[in-house]
This record gives sequence, C-alpha cells and structure tokens, in this order.
Amino acid sequence: MKVKVAILGCSGRMGRNLIQAAIEHESIELVGGSVRSTSSFVDFDLGELAGIGAIGAKTSVELTELLEADVFIDFTSIETTLENIEWCKKHNKALVIGTTGFSDEQVKTIEAAGQHIPVILAPNTSVGVNLLFKLLEITSKAIGDHTDIEIFEAHHRFKKDAPSGTAVKMGQVIADTLGRDLNKCAVYGREGITGERDKETIGFATVRAGDIVGEHTAFFADIGERLEITHKASSRMTFALGAMRAAFWLSEADNGYYDMQDVLGLK
Ligand code: NAD
Repeated sequence: MKVKVAILGCSGRMGRNLIQAAIEHESIELVGGSVRSTSSFVDFDLGELAGIGAIGAKTSVELTELLEADVFIDFTSIETTLENIEWCKKHNKALVIGTTGFSDEQVKTIEAAGQHIPVILAPNTSVGVNLLFKLLEITSKAIGDHTDIEIFEAHHRFKKDAPSGTAVKMGQVIADTLGRDLNKCAVYGREGITGERDKETIGFATVRAGDIVGEHTAFFADIGERLEITHKASSRMTFALGAMRAAFWLSEADNGYYDMQDVLGLK
C-alpha cells in the first residue's frame, strides 16, 4: 500500500521539487497540494506545476479537500505552518515540517503537537546535512573545547531568514555536545572593535547571493591547523527526496516529535 501524501505550499521553489520527488517515489502516492487563494495556480494539475506533465491530482486552497492524504509535507512560511499544525492536530494527520526560522517558543508549540500527531521538524531534509550533524557531534567531543568554532552559511538571494535553520541547528548540536547555552555563546556577525575572540563563543557568518542552493561549513580552528566540515547542496531535489524519506518513515510512526536523525537512524 502506498502512503498518500499532500504537499502544502506546492507552487513554491521547494514545492515543485517535492511534487517531482513524490511522483518518483515508488511507495508514495501524491494526492494533492495546497496553494494560496490568490495564487494563479488554483485547481492546477500538480504534474504540470512541476513541469513533468499532467498526473490528475490538483492543487487546492482548502485543506479539507486534501483529507485523503495520510501525511502532509509543509514547506511554506512560519505563519502558515503554525496554522497547518493546528489543522493537522484537528484532523489527526501526520506532518513533516520543512519550513525554517521558528523561534524557540514556536518550536515548543511544534514539539507539543507531537502529543497529538506524529510530527517531524526538519530544517534540513538532506541526508548529507544530517550526517554532517553527526560528524559535528563527534568532532565537538574530540576537539570542540580546544578550538575556535565558527559556522558559515550561504544561500540564494530570495531566502527570508538568517542564519539558516541548518546553521542554527549546527550551532545547537555543537553547543549541546559541549554543554554550552547557544543563546548565550552565539555571536551573529562582527563589526568594529570587537576585541579578541572569546573561546566559548560560536560565531555565525551569512552570505546571501544569486542562486546558491545552500552551503554550510563548520570551522574548528586551532593554532597551526583547522578542520573544516562542509556540505554543499547543488539541487533542491536533495531536500525533496529527503522529505519523501521522512514522510514514508512518519507514516509508520506513533504520535511524537521527531527529527531527521530519527528518520535516518542516526540517534
Ligand atoms: P517559496 O516562497 O518559494 O515557497 C513557499 C510557498 O508556500 C509559496 O508558493 C507560497 O505561496 C506558499 N504558501 C505560503 N502560505 C501559504 C498558504 N497559506 N497556503 C498555501 N500556500 C502557501 O519558498 P521555498 O524556497 O520553497 O521555501 C519554503 C520554506 O522551506 C522556507 O522556510 C525555507 O527556508 C524552507 N526550506 C527548507 C528546506 C529543508 O531542507 N527543510 C530546504 C529548502 C527550503
């Protein structure tokens, strides 16, 4: 039996890649997707939206038209995702959240939704990035306390939040491993007379330019050597394929709050 999936925000940059990935996945049946009421793609064929020919499933404005789906994949905006969580709770639907930029308070709301439905919060659905998180844990344990740790990320000019959800998560993994509080040790950009570097800090630097799909590097720098761990995404399909893997995994999960480490068995 195939898992029935709907894509929320299906006309977006990620949405169109998600449609393609869902169609290509042998165990997933794409039953629909949502667009805004103001969209020029209302009641539009999903396959045509992704540029791969009609498949018979259409876009909807009302989520109640998508009740056939078992798992919802949401790559929209913070406000919309928070509304979608309430809807999924009400209708007992599993939810994969790819949207990024949530505040700590909003993450708590998502975590609490796990008491009612299976929910995955995945600021980065790429398999490589989630392996990167694991490598950061290993590296932090081995040399984190002796090195200066900096995180660099670059994305396309249209990205709305900074630093990226992935960069924040990288910082969180490192801080958790080293027993530091990221809210206290994070430094977001530097300017002017900043003084010498405080060893406990984790620095973040951001670039926004052109069509960069997503690049992340963690520096562990000492005097005499430095280790750089880098991930570069060259196509959004990598995120879309990871999201399908998450949706399939979630279809068999109990109610709970999960992340990609659960999906990939990296815990
Ligand atoms: P986008 O702006 O191209 O797409 C978002 C889509 O959601 C738009 O088409 C918009 O119309 C739609 N949308 C918003 N509110 C809606 C509503 N109420 N009803 C229906 N549709 C609605 O943005 P994008 O580049 O596709 O990114 C979307 C989100 O995914 C961002 O938060 C981004 O940071 C995140 N993202 C996550 C990953 C990951 O791996 N998790 C990868 C890339 C992007």
